[in-house]
Amino acid sequence: MKGGRKRVLVTGGAGFIGSHLCERLVAAGDDVLCVDNFFTGTKDNVAGLLDMSNFEIMRHDVTFPLYVEVDEIYNLACPASPIHYQFDPVQTTKTSVHGAINMLGLAKRTHAKIFQASTSEVYGDPAIHPQTEDYNGNVNPIGPRACYDEGKRCAETLFFDYHRQHKLNIRVARIFNTYGPRMHPNDGRVVSNFIVQALSGKPITLYGDGEQTRSFCYVDDLVEAFVRLMAAPDDVTGPMNLGNPVEFTIRELAETVIDLTGSKSTLETHPLPQDDPMQRQPDISLAKKHLEWEPKIQLRQGLEKTIAYFDAVL
Ligand code: NAD
Ligand code: UDP
Repeated sequence: MKGGRKRVLVTGGAGFIGSHLCERLVAAGDDVLCVDNFFTGTKDNVAGLLDMSNFEIMRHDVTFPLYVEVDEIYNLACPASPIHYQFDPVQTTKTSVHGAINMLGLAKRTHAKIFQASTSEVYGDPAIHPQTEDYNGNVNPIGPRACYDEGKRCAETLFFDYHRQHKLNIRVARIFNTYGPRMHPNDGRVVSNFIVQALSGKPITLYGDGEQTRSFCYVDDLVEAFVRLMAAPDDVTGPMNLGNPVEFTIRELAETVIDLTGSKSTLETHPLPQDDPMQRQPDISLAKKHLEWEPKIQLRQGLEKTIAYFDAVL
């Protein structure tokens, strides 16, 4: 603590979720250090914070050690969309694994509490539905998604080994598909793709038959859960699923986006990418119990806000 303010490091803070988290922490009065290598994030995402006296931004790659003094660390640095994380898969694994080692080392030295942004991808193409935290997953270790999935799985291993071996105060969140303003318009993720396509009158690219499912959480709901998990009692380490349990098919998502934008776009089918999970829905009982949290923003409402954002930036 410095001057009574908590010093909070957010890695990947200039990205989509990280920028919303930084906003939330700055507004709460924390002293926020945003660290990012700007691979997928941008300074524009945090432009509204640059003038704030309790916000600071540093260009740094988490695969290299970082020496700063902090009380809490949110470790979000890692590209999250399949296009971006498959662009340089070796760097993706390094970011997850070396990044985790460096941030855990920092937490150990400074006695900081540390939060890891893990993912529903640790469940792979799940054989149980909905997914509970005790399910160990079904991940292809050598497929095109493995750099991300296995990198995040190894990061979880490191978090729990540092917890057991060095008594680190850890929080591990398994985040399910999240959407909202500041998603990268070209990152290939389904919500941004469909909105950008609908707004520009281009065909909506449905991969496979569109019957695969996802559960979409609006970013404000997610950030609320992050802050609650960080503030929870020390025995609430996770891993904890965070997401919206309301499940939709990708076809339903496409139809909703067309309806909300009033677009004349048509649906165009494309091959399903390799290892694309067929279904995904979080069981959020743990989060409800320990954080008294559940998402409040329904899909149509969140899509309206996201469409308004893309409409303004396009
Ligand atoms: P994003 O790509 O917008 O943000 C990631 C940020 O990390 C970017 O600003 C990027 O520049 C930065 N970064 C990447 N590699 C780095 C490195 N080596 N050093 C420093 N910074 C680096 O993605 P997002 O959707 O905001 O995701 C944030 C975190 O949440 C990621 O760890 C991701 O795996 C996790 N997550 C996101 C979702 C989702 O649906 N958005 C779902 C599950 C997990
Ligand atoms: N998807 C799609 N069209 C697109 C982009 C994605 O049909 O233009 C599908 C994709 O095949 C997957 C789902 O939407 O089944 C979610 O994809 P995304 O890349 O957003 O996230 P993830 O697969 O990591 O959950």
